[in-house]
Amino acid sequence: MTPSLEICRERAECPRFDWARRTGRPRLTASATTRSARRLATLSVALLSVVLASIAAAQALVSVELRADAARLFGELATLRGVPVPGSPPPLVIQSREERRRFVVAELGRKYSPARLDAERRALVAWGLVPADFDLATFYADLLAEQAAAYYDPRAKRMVLANWLTPDLQRDALAHELVHALQDRLVALDRFLGSAPDHGDEAVARQALIEGEAVALSQDLALHRSGRDFSALPDVADLAHAIRSSATGPVLARAPAFVRTMLTFPYAAGVGFVHAFRQRYPWAALSAVYRDPPRSSAQIIHPERYLDRRVDPLPVALPDLAGVLPAGSRAATEDELGEIGLAEVLRRSPDEPGDAAGWRGDRYALWDIPSRMPVLVAVIRWETMDQATAFARAYAPVLERTHGLSATTPSGPLRIWSSATATYLIEPRGRAVLVLEGLPPTALDGARAAVWSKPMLY
Ligand SMILES: [Zn+2]
Repeated sequence: MTPSLEICRERAECPRFDWARRTGRPRLTASATTRSARRLATLSVALLSVVLASIAAAQALVSVELRADAARLFGELATLRGVPVPGSPPPLVIQSREERRRFVVAELGRKYSPARLDAERRALVAWGLVPADFDLATFYADLLAEQAAAYYDPRAKRMVLANWLTPDLQRDALAHELVHALQDRLVALDRFLGSAPDHGDEAVARQALIEGEAVALSQDLALHRSGRDFSALPDVADLAHAIRSSATGPVLARAPAFVRTMLTFPYAAGVGFVHAFRQRYPWAALSAVYRDPPRSSAQIIHPERYLDRRVDPLPVALPDLAGVLPAGSRAATEDELGEIGLAEVLRRSPDEPGDAAGWRGDRYALWDIPSRMPVLVAVIRWETMDQATAFARAYAPVLERTHGLSATTPSGPLRIWSSATATYLIEPRGRAVLVLEGLPPTALDGARAAVWSKPMLY
């Protein structure tokens, strides 16, 4: 999808959840109750790492008690998960907020060239997901410095806790990060999360699997202490709601709605997916899911499309438009939105996300054109013709708002907005919808023909 989404995926928010307060059932443990009562969110991120501080010096700040807790929890989590007891847990490091910020900046630089970051940023702007002046890299560095309280570093094989956490909250964060350490020994998280470049929605699904398991397994361990079981919960709607609503802070408060959604999606939706899995299979069977993971946010949102009747995304191939666009045009970036990204595109207000149910696959590209605005081209495939038509109708006012266009009254399914310099189009055909935005008017016919000539089962 975009670096912003990838960075979002790597944010995590795993609040302690007080089941007793919400269900009226017995509380977990005395200590957990005390900590839960503070209603502080424990945030975690699974980031790749560069070493910013002396591990030895930082480890000196980790208490003997905390290290002992880590060793005990590591074994308990492995036993509950049904994997071999893994020996010693990874080293534990304490970081300051400023160290965390430097780490994020370094990671962005390591993973993305300035040109790639700029292209991804402009794609988000083109979809209307962030404001035109949105400074993606700076924003995420600020956001992480504010939000991230803990993360597991799969490259350096260590757990990092924020130095502003109280000892109780440090212990709370441990279980979640220890689950990531177990996952890393199962699949090598760095490779698992980085294996779908330009398939951002598939990467979101993988992130949701690992974060959903981390939330669910650590919650299950707490539930077991009071004789309860995660899989016996009728649903996890309250937990998902708590995750979505618990993050606060001045940086997050000014985040676009899309950023806020993607920040919590892997945790809130991921725990729902893992809960649906656990209602069908034992914990030990989850290892097989890592060998054939869900491929879309749609499968996370609707777990039955992975667990019961497998519905994988349909392929979409975009054409090379270099031959129909002005000389010197080039594709700046190509990726996918997925059901979760498309729902954000269709968002009606800060409190009202859009509905992209029925999404079956998509692909978009941002083309840079010399001396003019970039062109956005996208094809979205739907389960039914009615859903394709409904999307075309719902997206029209979004496109008009994003580009300041006058509303049109279409005579049929095809919608075109045209001026002397740019053309915009939404065209459903069967179960697919073509979107073209900012196209030089002379390129319209060629671009449409090029897209629809691609083999597609519409
Ligand atoms: Zn996590």
